[in-house]
This record gives sequence, structure tokens and C-alpha cells, in this order.
Amino acid sequence: MSRPIVATINRAALRQNLAVARQAAGGSRLWSVVKANAYGHGIERVWQSLAETDGFALLNLEEAILLREQGWKKPILLLEGFFHAEDLTLLDQYRLTTSIHSNWQIQALAKATLSAPLDIYLKMNSGMNRLGFQPDQVHNAWQKLRSLENVGEMTLMAHFAEAETAEGIAGPMRRIEQAAEGLNCARSLANSAATLWHPQTHHNWVRPGIILYGASPSGKWQDIASSGLQPVMTLTTEVIGTQQLTTGSAVGYGSRYRASGEQRIGVVACGYADGYPRHAPTGTPIMVDGIMTHTVGAISMDMITVDLTPCPQAGIGSRVEMWGNNVKIDDVAAASGTVGYELMCALAPRVPVIVE
Ligand SMILES: *Cc1c(COP(=O)(O)O)cnc(C)c1O
Repeated sequence: MSRPIVATINRAALRQNLAVARQAAGGSRLWSVVKANAYGHGIERVWQSLAETDGFALLNLEEAILLREQGWKKPILLLEGFFHAEDLTLLDQYRLTTSIHSNWQIQALAKATLSAPLDIYLKMNSGMNRLGFQPDQVHNAWQKLRSLENVGEMTLMAHFAEAETAEGIAGPMRRIEQAAEGLNCARSLANSAATLWHPQTHHNWVRPGIILYGASPSGKWQDIASSGLQPVMTLTTEVIGTQQLTTGSAVGYGSRYRASGEQRIGVVACGYADGYPRHAPTGTPIMVDGIMTHTVGAISMDMITVDLTPCPQAGIGSRVEMWGNNVKIDDVAAASGTVGYELMCALAPRVPVIVE
């Protein structure tokens, strides 16, 4: 028999989350963001459950081509555009919409020989200082692109560094408005947080990612608890051993945990080599045999140790949920000093995945 760990992908939750995003987006069209192999869920596994979307956004050409080969005919947006001028041949062949964030890309587009114009997203830097044209360069870049035969539909794109709060989006929105003045352009600005919480950012196309997978863009589950969003990935395994501790007994590497009295613990078949965060401290929530408990001691490569005090009936073979419907991935991430995004993306290839 194989190791009991498994990640289960819930198709119904994907469909439900897309419906929630759609509802929040009002009349705006919707890019479903499936970058990073659909946030670790597997593009091949999830895209059909999201097929009601208006387009898929990602950044790997390979992932875009896979979607086309699997039969997706509607738009695909490359969030970081093309990485080399030669890639334009493939963008042309597979009809991909591309972000344009730098002058070299405009020049490459001007020189390319294409079978038909490509739709483009002009990426502006609204204050995050990652990719994109400065607000005062937007007009010029827009006009240059507009004059190219190789350019079809054009949309202005920006991204928020802090979309959780109204204050976080106020400055960027001002810069976007200034940059767009007189352009009469279609816009795509909103990530998940802005889609849920800031309707004034919606414009023509929204770009939610994390909420499609049922985690919170703020990192706090409470912020989406009443939204109807449902966790898509459930990571489960089993207890494979137990230990009876007495006062002062140490647990795991570095003896990071010591029992303060009689205590029964369980040894769980999951570790950081499966994608569980090694930084999860003692006290990180985990469910054993249907009861909420917590981890004790250091996370090992292949094992986690957990307190069995709240579940004396549990033993070898008891089901354990690391995250999913009961243990929110946001809570495991928060305890470990990270975000649900990272935990999803870090699901290790060795973990078998079931789609249901
Ligand atoms: C990742 C990404 C998104 C989606 O962000 P979420 O916070 O997951 O909703 C949207 N736009 C761009 C440009 C991105 O890189």
C-alpha cells in the first residue's frame, strides 16, 4: 500500500468559487488566473471546471499551449507578456493576448511578422514598482502600439500592491486615472481582493486568482468566511504511530517541544517534503479523527507530530486533515508566517492528487 497522504481537488468548489467571483465582478468580464499550474492545483485538473470563465490568465507559454491543445478556444492572457522576441511566433500561432510592459516588447512587436494582429494589455506601473510603464510613459507607449499593424485590441492593465484596504487602492487608482486620461481605453485592474471589495476597480476585465481556489486574498479566512467561497484543495493523510510522553519528554528535531505532563501524541505521514510548511510552530491547527488539535515540535521532512489529548480515541489509521474544509489553509499559513498562496503552490509532486 502506498503512503496515505493525498490531495483532493473539489470540482464543485471550483465552479462555486467562479460563480462567487462572477457575482462580485458585476458585469465585468473575468480572467481566471491559473498561473503557477493553477496555484498548485494542476491546470489540467481544474480548467474544465472553470470553463464558464471569459479567459484564462497565466504566464508560462507551455501552460498556455497546453490549454489550447486541450481545446480551450477563448482568450488566454500572458500576464508577463513574452520573454523573448522569438516567442511571438508561438503567440501568433496559439492566438495569445500579451501583456506589454517594456519598450523592447513594443519594438519586437513592431518587427514581427504575424498572421494576424495580437490583442495586447499595456501594463502600467501604478506604484508597486514591479513590471510596467510609469504613468507618464503610458500615453506614448499607447500611441506607439496603436500605430502598429500587429496590434489588435488594446487594454490598459495595472496591478495593486495592497488591494485589501480602500487606502491601499486610492493612490494607484489616482495614478491610473491620470495615466488613462484622454485614452478612452478598456481597463483591467482588479485581482481577487479588488474584485471582492472594490467595485470601482472592476472596469472591463477583472483578474481573480486566489479566491477561485477558496482562500483569502488578505490571508485571513474570516474575511471571506461569509462569501460563499469554498476550499478547493484538501490535504489529508493518516496517523502512522503514537507515543506516550511523560513530563519533560522531548519531541522531534532540536527537541523543540517538551511535554509538561502525561501526553499522548500522534505521528502523521506528511512533512515539509510534501509541501507542509517547515516553519509551522507548535500550535499550528490540524484535524485528527474529526477533532481540531495542533502540531507539537518541529516539522520533519516526512512526518508531523500532533497532540492527541483532545482526541483520545484516535490512533494508528486515524484520518488527518492538514488543510481543506475544516482546517483553513489561511490559518495554517498565518501560523507559519506565510500565505495560503505559497502553501498551495508548494504542494510537492510526490503527493498523489485525486479530483472529485
Ligand atoms: C497573480 C495575479 C493576479 C491574481 O492575484 P490574486 O491575488 O491571486 O487574485 C492578477 N493579476 C496579476 C497581474 C497577477 O500577477
